[in-house]
Amino acid sequence: MPIATTNPATGQLLKSYGPMSAEQIDAAIDRADVAFRDLHDTTLAQRVQWMNAAADLLEAERDATARMMTTEMGKTYVAAQAEVTKCATACRFYAANAERMLADEPADAGAVKARRAFVRYQPIGPVLAVMPWNFPLWQVMRFAAPALMAGNTGLLKHASNVPQTALYLEELFRRAGFPEGAFTTLLVGSEAVDPILSDPRVRAATLTGSEGAGRSIGQIAGRELKKTVLELGGSDPFVVMPSADLDRAAEVATTARCQNNGQSCIAAKRFIVHTDVFDAFADKFAANMSALRVGDPMDENTDVGPLASERGRDEIHAQVQDAVDHGATVLCGGEKPAGAGWFYPPTVVTDLNPQMRMWSEEVFGPVAGLFRVSSYAEAIEVANGTAFGLGSNAWTTDPQEQERFAVDLDAGSVFINGMTTSYPELPFGGVKNSGYGRELSALGMREFCNTKTVWVGEGAASAGAGAHAE
Ligand code: NAP
Repeated sequence: MPIATTNPATGQLLKSYGPMSAEQIDAAIDRADVAFRDLHDTTLAQRVQWMNAAADLLEAERDATARMMTTEMGKTYVAAQAEVTKCATACRFYAANAERMLADEPADAGAVKARRAFVRYQPIGPVLAVMPWNFPLWQVMRFAAPALMAGNTGLLKHASNVPQTALYLEELFRRAGFPEGAFTTLLVGSEAVDPILSDPRVRAATLTGSEGAGRSIGQIAGRELKKTVLELGGSDPFVVMPSADLDRAAEVATTARCQNNGQSCIAAKRFIVHTDVFDAFADKFAANMSALRVGDPMDENTDVGPLASERGRDEIHAQVQDAVDHGATVLCGGEKPAGAGWFYPPTVVTDLNPQMRMWSEEVFGPVAGLFRVSSYAEAIEVANGTAFGLGSNAWTTDPQEQERFAVDLDAGSVFINGMTTSYPELPFGGVKNSGYGRELSALGMREFCNTKTVWVGEGAASAGAGAHAE
């Protein structure tokens, strides 16, 4: 894939970059390795100051940064502004909470025959971050803020269609005060990931992206015995039961499906509705979806901008066509518009069956699949019936049903009567083919820490008493 900025609203190529040479990559890894040792000599207080400075820069530069993101990948300017603000909030969150998250955790010394025993969290070194274009700032920040606060360094291989945002991120941390090499952008294609991750100086990798990329990076990391966190695709269920507030559910369903022009891993994608309220929900949902304004992402009245690439639009249209060819019904949308830019209308498709691609595949655009079920058990069967397990949503005012959904939905998160979203305070990640490991919260920070057990005996003579050598 060429490393270039192409405006998805016009299809116009704006700026191209050549990939870094092997020598440049080697030098960048070296700087990350040296910076890791430099960070070791810094205090946490110093890193807190730098991270807060990064937040200040983000806030001051919000609008220009948002414009750059919209130009590179087509999300609405309003959504891009919110993304920049969210990143600043995450920087401040980790600046404020790193000390608590990284503090030694005392253990019961008596039980392990020690004078003192505790767990210490220490950074592990340069971490390769392979990131997607859909939230080009946020996906990177939710790795970078905790990693840098813990004392790791970052090597970013960003998606090839967002090179300007990638370069901005390197500059951001440098201007905030972090040492040269603490956070480096590698302008490289995906074929460079294998040699970079195989380099002994690179200690681990985190990927946010597709299942295919996850398998590839998982294989390399397995061969090289390196830790990975994989945040992959999703086909989140959104279950609506008879007791739900249907107006609110239909309103949130529309936002949950079309946020980020429908290109979010945790967008609700499969709407599983109890037959008692199916028709009423379908009417409201299709009306809301049809009312969304599709157009210029820079216009603040636009709800849905273009898809990020022509390939992405072709793919979702092929999925809709495949469903129609196998007997599905389109309640709204479904037509590929003519003209410049990779726009696609909000679309609702129903009468789906397992022969259709939309039944089991992720649909990465503003296209909703609507499923009719006749019981709680059937809702769970359909909801859990894909290879994914990222987020999930259930709408019910029945407290017992809420408890059951929290247990039975096979996903990394369950949101009841609300929309799945990510918060710095809560862990984020998936199960099944949606990946493994967690980002955000203390768990996210500790994924790239050496969780070190420290055991201190009474003295040299008794230090190992009763212990097993392993
Ligand atoms: P993608 O093709 O997997 O690209 C993501 C990143 O991986 C890019 O930097 C890409 O580089 C790189 N890449 C692609 N194939 C690779 C390979 N074989 N080896 C190493 N690196 C590789 O994903 P996408 O289609 O752009 O993004 C959408 C996908 O990401 C969806 O499935 C979505 O659900 C998922 N996603 C998941 C989360 C989450 O938190 N779980 C969040 C957002 C998105 P190039 O750009 O150079 O190809």
